Amino acid sequence: MKIKLDLAKCTRSGECYYNHPMLFKADKEGWPIQLKEELETADEQLEARQAVEACPAELRPLWIEE
Ligand code: SF4
Repeated sequence: MKIKLDLAKCTRSGECYYNHPMLFKADKEGWPIQLKEELETADEQLEARQAVEACPAELRPLWIEE
């Protein structure tokens, strides 16, 4: 399972890196940087699903690939 991020659709709201530092961090301008793409553990997979669900951007910049 992978989590994917399309920065062109991101609004820099910050939920992903504030709430899921296992998977994301912020760059100097507040854009998210992915720390992991391949999700190996159950914890990572749960965090990723929560991050996708909580992302408020209408264009859906985060998604899961099974
Ligand atoms: S939660 Fe969504 S919109 Fe907000 S910074 Fe992360 S990817 Fe971008």
